[in-house]
Amino acid sequence: MNTYTRLPISFTRGKGVYLYDGDNKSYLDALAGIAVCGLGHAHPELVAVLAEQSWKLWHTSNLFTIPQQERAAETLCRFSGMKRAYFCNSGTEANEAAIKLTRLHACEKGIDTPLVLTCNGGFHGRTFGAMAATANPKIRAGFEPHLQGFSCLPFNDLRAFAEYAGDPKVVAVMVECVQGEGGVHPADPAFLRGLRRLCDEQGWLLICDEIQIGILRSGKWFGYQHAGIVPDIVTLAKGLGNGIPVGACLARGAPAHYFRPGMHGATFGGAALAMAVVNKVLELYSRDGFVLQVDERGRQLQEKLRATLGALPVVREIRGIGLMLGIELTEAPPNLVARGLQQGVVINVTAGNVLRLLPPLIFSEEHCDRLAEVLHRLLTEG
Ligand code: PLP
Repeated sequence: MNTYTRLPISFTRGKGVYLYDGDNKSYLDALAGIAVCGLGHAHPELVAVLAEQSWKLWHTSNLFTIPQQERAAETLCRFSGMKRAYFCNSGTEANEAAIKLTRLHACEKGIDTPLVLTCNGGFHGRTFGAMAATANPKIRAGFEPHLQGFSCLPFNDLRAFAEYAGDPKVVAVMVECVQGEGGVHPADPAFLRGLRRLCDEQGWLLICDEIQIGILRSGKWFGYQHAGIVPDIVTLAKGLGNGIPVGACLARGAPAHYFRPGMHGATFGGAALAMAVVNKVLELYSRDGFVLQVDERGRQLQEKLRATLGALPVVREIRGIGLMLGIELTEAPPNLVARGLQQGVVINVTAGNVLRLLPPLIFSEEHCDRLAEVLHRLLTEG
């Protein structure tokens, strides 16, 4: 169906940080399938684990114990500070699970018209719950009536959230630590810490949607770790499977135990094939120095972008953390992404005028140099 505006190009293969078209032209990938392929394309160890598992077993269903799933849950909980995991197939599904947990939290508290506070500029997905949590009219228009029970408040404005203190309907706050689709806007760490305090005082659940920033893209395993807080619920997808569709909803405390058998589920969630890949992704990222490398590369790239592009009249602001960076332009030049492809780089524009960079986390300093150089050309020529 006509759901995407597609560029007239298709890639036939990928290797590391490069994509190749049918003519074998190479493209430096600064998008990674929208923050998905953090370990790049055709990573030999991921290919090997996928091949090995596919010869053994693909799918059995959640009617049976799946050891690969238990291992992935254990590792993710260890890294995130959560206690239990539910696996699904996408980001929006992970958020649906989180939203269902907020409804169960409301039941526990005897609230029949629960309210979840979310942020303007946020994006949580396209299914009905996740869409209702998303304020952007472009996402919502045409799909009325929306699911009730969400109020969108100004991002980074703690006072707006604090005004709900004492409101007996509120059960949770849902936030992205860096708004991705909204234009790469990092949450102020003080805002996140303030939300954590408010949620503790009020008995609200704090949900961090880590679908885009999570799994190391920020230079830490999870975006909220930059603020030194631990949420009650964490949602993941994108980078978790490096391209194998997978999502996860993690929780700690009471919400980790709200679901009972039969209350929620997904046929494909946490199947052996995807989980084998997830375990390898997590293992590769856990190897010595990887986290520090992402942090350092993010700083290098941001510095290079500032040095190369910062003074251009078309550049309004360069922001972001780790390898999730946005260059806000006064106005996006026409055909910027298509011209990027002609020059051999894959980039993205979001929120109308924000050039968004989400490169694989294995980017080297040379890749950063090349990217900055091509972006300079794109923003000064034509
Ligand atoms: N939440 C955030 C923060 C996202 O960036 C996205 C996708 O871009 C989603 C949720 C939805 O994820 P999916 O497209 O896998 O459903």
